[in-house]
Amino acid sequence: MSRYYLGIDIGGTAVKLGLVRSNGEITNSGTYSVNFDHYKTPIIDTVLKSLESFIHENTIDLSTIKGIGVSATGQIDVHNGIVAGTAGHINNWVGTPLKDILQETYHLPVLVENDANCAVIGEHWLGDAANYSNVVMLTIGTGVGGGIIINNHLLSGQMGIAGELGHFPLNAHGKPCYCGNIGCYEQYASTTALVADVKETLNNDPHINLEKINGKYIFTQLQKGNPTISVIVEQWIDNIARGIVGLIHIFNPEAIIIGGGVSQQEELFISPLREKILELTMPCFKKNLIITKASLGNNAGLCGAVYPFIKNNS
Ligand SMILES: [Zn+2]
Repeated sequence: MSRYYLGIDIGGTAVKLGLVRSNGEITNSGTYSVNFDHYKTPIIDTVLKSLESFIHENTIDLSTIKGIGVSATGQIDVHNGIVAGTAGHINNWVGTPLKDILQETYHLPVLVENDANCAVIGEHWLGDAANYSNVVMLTIGTGVGGGIIINNHLLSGQMGIAGELGHFPLNAHGKPCYCGNIGCYEQYASTTALVADVKETLNNDPHINLEKINGKYIFTQLQKGNPTISVIVEQWIDNIARGIVGLIHIFNPEAIIIGGGVSQQEELFISPLREKILELTMPCFKKNLIITKASLGNNAGLCGAVYPFIKNNS
């Protein structure tokens, strides 16, 4: 018989809630903004309110739920289910005892894990990465998230916060990062970094409304063959590739999985990225290596969050 779990995927802009069956099927889901007032309302308050609506609207019988899995942005102390830290840009979030609050509210077992780690767990359970034992996933978006699976186990580190791939230094003399360091990978490899570079370059062009520049605009221009944008994107892909090559040399994975909205651009992004990575990777490390986009899209976090319950029941 199928069991049901409640998945909660808390990102920097929205929380996604979903009812997940033990085969990974999401039967109901809903998305609610968490930054509508720039986090003046603590995220946890929004999450609790959203859960109430979600449960009510979908007439969910809590007695049928076997557990709550939380995928959460930030550095998560997985042993205690607490937000231990962030890279420094979300107010009223660090210190939130997610596990205790949800357990006290719903009287169900609760597991909390970092969102990028949940994404790689989800992909390794249900996506293309299921065929591989050693997987490195990078989520490229506002920032860069990471999750690493070695010999079919998530690399967790002592507190469960390992795999913070956005904050290894790519350039010791480079851009300052809001985490406090200089030259972090995220400052070069995120979509935010790409958008900032394009805006800086086009700053003096009176025909361009800088407000309109986002990932979609950039890829539309790229499609049209805009030479200025092409140069910037090429440099961005080069930066992303160099970081990934380092990870390949450290972890010797079979699969590199790229997530985030931009990963949908096979021809303009994944394909040239793959080419660049293979050009820079040492020959032995290229053996049986695949570089591909994530297959679950936005659902990976919800599925990855509840997976530990399912694994323990099987
Ligand atoms: Zn940083």
